[in-house]
Amino acid sequence: MAKILQLRVGGFDDNFSYLVLGEGKHSKEAVLIDPTGNKELIDAAIKKHDLRIVLQTITHNHPDHRELFDYFSSKGVPSIIPASKQLGEFEEKIVAGFSIRFIHTPGHTSDCVCIQLENNLFTGDTLFARGVGNTQYGGNESEQEETIAFLSQLDQKLIIWPGHDYGGAKCTLHEALKNAHLKPSKRVLDLIANKVKEYNLKVKK
Ligand SMILES: [Zn+2]
Repeated sequence: MAKILQLRVGGFDDNFSYLVLGEGKHSKEAVLIDPTGNKELIDAAIKKHDLRIVLQTITHNHPDHRELFDYFSSKGVPSIIPASKQLGEFEEKIVAGFSIRFIHTPGHTSDCVCIQLENNLFTGDTLFARGVGNTQYGGNESEQEETIAFLSQLDQKLIIWPGHDYGGAKCTLHEALKNAHLKPSKRVLDLIANKVKEYNLKVKK
């Protein structure tokens, strides 16, 4: 099982950065998600656990989720920046002994991803414990509604780890969707059902 360090790094507004530690022979390797906020705090966690960052990545390209991206890049940390793609498309990478899946979930921004690792889903500003990210800065409301419809048809026991502490630090996907102020219409849920089917088929391959 992945060990997840959820770091309250301050930043723009109660931001979280995450260190995901490998297991067994990978236990000193970590993936850094949304490097932002208090640099000393992240460096201290890396030092405390004697970690080597094998990848840094972001849930989307808003400044408050990547403030420290250049800092870690300058230390030679390899990076992945998600590109804008269609809802439900995904890429998979093996890093630190884990399979990490970048699932495209546009809405809050066109380049948003949810990052799945085992039963964990790092949702950035796509979905918080209570609510969804606004669409005013590069987003689209109808895409957001479709993304929520998509997420509502995934495994509801997934644990979501959001980009900000808005109503909680983590919860199940089921709880988060129940508390999201956005409820997709039946029309959108039906529309997205095929995308979910396609996604499930590709995942099972
Ligand atoms: Zn954002």
